[in-house]
Amino acid sequence: MNPIFSLTPSDRGPVLRIREQELSSALTISLEITGLKPLVSRGELVAKGQQLCVDPANKLPSVHSSVSGKVLDLKKDFILIEEEGDRLAEPLKFNNSDSVSMLSDLRDAGIDVHGFKQGCTLIINAVPKEFGIDGHRFLIEEFNHIMSEGLDYLKKAISPIASAIAVPEGMAWTLPGCTGHEIDPVYPAGLPPMVVKSVTGKEMPPDVCVIDAATLYRIGRTVHGKQPVTEIMVKVGSTLFQTPVGTTVGLLTSKAGFSLSDGDRVLLGGPLSGRAVYSLNHGISASTQAVTVIHGGDDPVAKDSPCVGCGECVLKCPARLMPNMISRHAEFGFFENTQNYFIASCFECGLCAYWCTAQRPLLQYIRLAKKELLDKPILEDLRK
Ligand code: SF4
Ligand code: SF4
Repeated sequence: MNPIFSLTPSDRGPVLRIREQELSSALTISLEITGLKPLVSRGELVAKGQQLCVDPANKLPSVHSSVSGKVLDLKKDFILIEEEGDRLAEPLKFNNSDSVSMLSDLRDAGIDVHGFKQGCTLIINAVPKEFGIDGHRFLIEEFNHIMSEGLDYLKKAISPIASAIAVPEGMAWTLPGCTGHEIDPVYPAGLPPMVVKSVTGKEMPPDVCVIDAATLYRIGRTVHGKQPVTEIMVKVGSTLFQTPVGTTVGLLTSKAGFSLSDGDRVLLGGPLSGRAVYSLNHGISASTQAVTVIHGGDDPVAKDSPCVGCGECVLKCPARLMPNMISRHAEFGFFENTQNYFIASCFECGLCAYWCTAQRPLLQYIRLAKKELLDKPILEDLRK
């Protein structure tokens, strides 16, 4: 099997802690804040765990500082903080009185609670999303009690009618109160819609919530420590790091031993479904699980070549879509037309682009169309 399709977790190697590494200058973090309202200004001193930005519409999770430091720069899309001092934010308060306030407390603590529904079937997804994205293995094996605490909180908040944990075949991972479900670890079996189908036997049922194991850990850690989670596990190449949220991809790739040059690409996520960053100063977010380096020359580069109509992408799409038609309309700006080809059902696995004979950037076209359509109420389901 092409290793890119194998979701079997790798052997557990050592964890590299950025805090224990020698750095040439003070740690500077970069936090993405697109769509959020800043609560601090340039030059202000902030504490570790301090809330920096909120969503006035109460939909997106808040962003917190992962270091004690000084705000160096503040732009529409990111905030830059240089570490200094050892200030720590006041502990979070959790109001456990009802479901709405429990979820709202999580959102204020930086957890994405979009899509959580009362009375759903809750699935904890512990299958790697892509080849090598298996940092949650460490969390499940070392911090099962923290994840259980997260699960208890979630159960009180959304009262699921049943809870299951999806694991790669052969991995003996469990969580108290969850039915185990083993999944054949072949890409894209670890992506949420595929996990839902595998566990429930249904495609896109409305009453199911999927949460990945790393997010469950973050909930447990937040509730347990009464502080937002400021450090996460992220796999960079084959190295597993524990590092502050906002650590730049430049620092992580250099500590992982990569030497980058012109033409190389750095992705947040895996090679099939990750998103390329345009600068090595881009920081990882709280939900980043991997950073992937694709060296120029190693792999074919996607280009705006015309579709040759071979149909390969249609054959390979696990959602039974027509990526060739979606991409043709998106390429020329006919974004509305992509709805006729059920673009909302695309779960961005990237297999169409991987197999495209003409090496067209199919996933990028699809993401562009989705972004353009997001403002249109007709695609409400894309916001879930
Ligand atoms: S990314 Fe491509 S292959 Fe994957 S679900 Fe979407 S259209 Fe189908
Ligand atoms: S695989 Fe590429 S070239 Fe072939 S039909 Fe799909 S988009 Fe067109």
